[in-house]
Amino acid sequence: MNLETHILLRCPYCKREMAAERTDTDYPEAVRLEVRCDKCDDGDFAETMYYDAAGKHITRDPSLPANGQGNRSEPA
Ligand SMILES: [Zn+2]
Repeated sequence: MNLETHILLRCPYCKREMAAERTDTDYPEAVRLEVRCDKCDDGDFAETMYYDAAGKHITRDPSLPANGQGNRSEPA
């Protein structure tokens, strides 16, 4: 899996893992995204949690650039 273009999706319930293409809303430093898969989704609000390479839960404001990373997505 190429972490530049893909992120690891992991279901915290059944532990199923799959690679997914990154989207604009993904944190650039995130390597793993934990979210309920379609099988475990019971209709409740599903929390999405991002983790970086160190396994740390990423909680920063998604609209702000990562520290020291510069601005990767300048407005058009
Ligand atoms: Zn699942």
